Amino acid sequence: MAKAGKTTRLTKKQFKDLKEKLALKPISVWDKADAATRQEIFKMGERYKAFLSQAKTERLAVEAIRERARALGFKPLKAGAKGRRFYLEQQGKAIALCVLGKKGVGAGLRIIGSHIDAPRLDLKMHPLYENQELAFLKTHYYGGIKKYQWLARPLALHGVVCTREGKTVQVHVGDAPDDPVFTLLDLLPHLSRKSQESKKLSDAFEAERMNLLIGGLPLDVEEGAENDKVKLAVLKLLQDGYGVSEADLISAELEVVPAGLARDVGLDRALVGAYGQDDRASAFCALEAILALKDPAVTAVAMFVDKEEIGSEGPTSANTRWIELLVAGFMEAAGEKPSYLAVSRALAASQALSADVNAALDPDFPEVHEKRNAALLGYGVTLTKYTGHGGKYSANDANAEYVAWLRKVWDQAGVTWQAAGMGKIDEGGGGTIAKLMAVYGLDIVDVGPALLSMHSPFEVSHKADIHSSVGAFRAFYLAGPR
Ligand code: MN
Ligand code: MN
Repeated sequence: MAKAGKTTRLTKKQFKDLKEKLALKPISVWDKADAATRQEIFKMGERYKAFLSQAKTERLAVEAIRERARALGFKPLKAGAKGRRFYLEQQGKAIALCVLGKKGVGAGLRIIGSHIDAPRLDLKMHPLYENQELAFLKTHYYGGIKKYQWLARPLALHGVVCTREGKTVQVHVGDAPDDPVFTLLDLLPHLSRKSQESKKLSDAFEAERMNLLIGGLPLDVEEGAENDKVKLAVLKLLQDGYGVSEADLISAELEVVPAGLARDVGLDRALVGAYGQDDRASAFCALEAILALKDPAVTAVAMFVDKEEIGSEGPTSANTRWIELLVAGFMEAAGEKPSYLAVSRALAASQALSADVNAALDPDFPEVHEKRNAALLGYGVTLTKYTGHGGKYSANDANAEYVAWLRKVWDQAGVTWQAAGMGKIDEGGGGTIAKLMAVYGLDIVDVGPALLSMHSPFEVSHKADIHSSVGAFRAFYLAGPR
């Protein structure tokens, strides 16, 4: 350490130079973007919106990812598969892409994990009923939502109904231009003083009142027939249109999501507004990055998993050993022997990014953020060294050595990036799939674009951050040894 006390008075110019040399200054993507980059940012924004508009559910996201991968020569991973580019699906709700590296899979992989499920409303097992000669579907919310945001807005229905005969029927209503939409009713302000306005927000809106309006036309029957004419009319429409009965709705996965396409936000079109950007933003960026790889040195993997929003549970989530199956399969395809030891060693020698969105500093609610450690919209991809809540509970706290390596990788590749946590320590918090991937003893840290209005039906991202995240992911895949 230098000795304190003896100093020379600096000139204003010297102070400015010293500050520039030693202090960290936030840099906006736009500070560095030349004309070509600006054009690229907006071009990528178009691809991004198209992806979000197509991938309204995890099943539709798998389809969108598979479609783009197959067009670029990715093949299904199975025994005896030949080639360098593969994909493997898990129950139609998770998918992984892989580009084999020149070094061999056993030398370690570069893995980016993101999730493709988003908060929404599912249907209950017995959803359909009639009330006041209107037909409704009972819903059950999935993930963290603010219930009031889902009322009195156009909603679409996407998913599958599986029949006893083994047929899987696709249902997609509400997003095509001529489709009808559905809605959850809300009370008029004239009459909601006691039932809503005088209550706490958490008490004012109840899950059991979130019933999807889907019909109002009774069957035309002679007088004296039993009631439920509207419900039966809906069942008849389901039978005629899809060949499904009420019992088939037990074996269905129908998801209620905001209707409509992803849109530009702002007169300058700098931002994207859409449902499901947590975490299809990161999924899109990982997809763009891996599809652009030609012949990487290190094997690159992009995993797109399900059920993160309910705590990563179940066979399509990150909380499975699917990753071992993937690595073993990739080794087999590369002609390497996928012994337990070889797979374990490959994983332990890997670097990974848990690609998920972070909360951008909200200009209207600065008090929930700690502004020195908050992500700024438009300032590039966000690195979050640790997540969790309170005293770092349930966090993956990334290794300093790994974070240093990533900084170097991004700085050398010219990526504009920022480091930020999520909100004030005692305000709340959240987790990602990082801790689940970390069980293999690999290097892992949370990285992704920041959002405003996160978990709402209309989340907002900045096109510059999407572009920066794609650049960060590409640089990660292409980086030299750690
Ligand atoms: Mn997320
Ligand atoms: Mn989330």
